[in-house]
Amino acid sequence: MATQSHRIMDCFDPLAAPNANNWHPHLWPPFTQIASASPPQRVIAADGALLMLDGAPPLIDAISSWWVTLHGHANPSIAAAIATQAQQLEQVIFADFIHPQAEQLAERLSAVTGLQRLFFSDNGSTAVEVALKIACQCWHNRGEPRQQLIAFNGAYHGDTFGAMAVGERNLFSAPFEEMLFPVARVPWPATWWGDEEVETRERIALTELERCLQTPTAAVILEPLVQGAGGMAMVRAEFLQGVEQRVRAAGALLIADEVLTGFGRCGALFAFKRAGLAPDLIALSKGLTGGFLPMGVTMAREEVFEAFLGDDPSLTLWHGHSFTANPLGCAAANASLDLLEANPESYENFEARHRPHLEALAEHPKVQQPRLTGTIAAFDLAIDGTHGYLNPAGRIVKQQAINNGVFLRPLGQVVYLLPPLCLNDAQLEQCYAAINLGLEAL
Ligand SMILES: *Cc1c(COP(=O)(O)O)cnc(C)c1O
Repeated sequence: MATQSHRIMDCFDPLAAPNANNWHPHLWPPFTQIASASPPQRVIAADGALLMLDGAPPLIDAISSWWVTLHGHANPSIAAAIATQAQQLEQVIFADFIHPQAEQLAERLSAVTGLQRLFFSDNGSTAVEVALKIACQCWHNRGEPRQQLIAFNGAYHGDTFGAMAVGERNLFSAPFEEMLFPVARVPWPATWWGDEEVETRERIALTELERCLQTPTAAVILEPLVQGAGGMAMVRAEFLQGVEQRVRAAGALLIADEVLTGFGRCGALFAFKRAGLAPDLIALSKGLTGGFLPMGVTMAREEVFEAFLGDDPSLTLWHGHSFTANPLGCAAANASLDLLEANPESYENFEARHRPHLEALAEHPKVQQPRLTGTIAAFDLAIDGTHGYLNPAGRIVKQQAINNGVFLRPLGQVVYLLPPLCLNDAQLEQCYAAINLGLEAL
């Protein structure tokens, strides 16, 4: 499996004709080269798993709108919770004040993660930044400074500078390469159905991790079970447990970036739980508010928090954001947790719903390396490797799927489904049928 970031291919379409003139004159879209990408479609509403388009039939949102939409679009109970909160308290400065929605969310997330302290920020990248800053300052405060951070090949942790530094270096980060702090790298032994060499790759990765850990290390950061933007690259729980053992032996901190994998995406409320890990810091965002509002949180173990207590002002975590603990986001997150608590089968059973469809698809000669974790099903297109990222296969599958009512967004040659929990059986079947039609078009 390629370890370069597939998100490059997720956006860049060098074969398309220049059409910047078709774009809105004032919008600057993310991850998009507007000189070559197809113009966007206008969405006027969304409901459950469906996106309603202006002048076109609805599309099943099979990637949860960049992995955020958790229960479904316009979920009535989350919408109501936000509306009620907006009429009571829309925002308040979160230094000198707290508010009930934030208290409730902190208590609940602490109970379900087992990590006692919650720090609020605005998105996944900032949740990671905060985790990195806490990890480094924790050692500084303990009078035992440790500078090294260790991350995995193919990782994606966000687009701000610190998050970019720990992520895989690629075309996206290249203009800033000189400005990014150094990070030690370890291979990510991704696996799939029928993979017979995984144990060898895991051993190599663990040996490399041991070598890196000989340098005093502040923290090791990883995406538990599934690297998202790195191509839905899935690892075994056994490997992650091996990582944790070595991190503990070296006395370093373990950061779980659950920005994608949290809140049921991987079949358990959190991927680290399914993998049997006990991280020191956890970054959460995306599904946190059910996908309604931007919010990030960093959870920390109490012993980490304690390193920041004392009379000396330099011990303080001097970090904060204007919209810290926005009450609307907290209300949405609490309403989303209510839904997850009321209906754990919605995420626990998703893997079993995918399985027969993916098994059938795996028989297709164009399908390689099928893999499945919770709600996330993925495979690689068997395409002529000589084309590199100019290979149009992913784009063809995407267009065919859209023609058949399903919005996909392959990461290069990786096709995946990451649907909202409300997706019904007929819609799931339609997703696989659309992929099949896409494969036939290759
Ligand atoms: C999306 C993502 C991020 C970044 O989150 P943003 O909200 O886009 O800043 C960080 N880590 C992982 C694992 C992600 O998938």
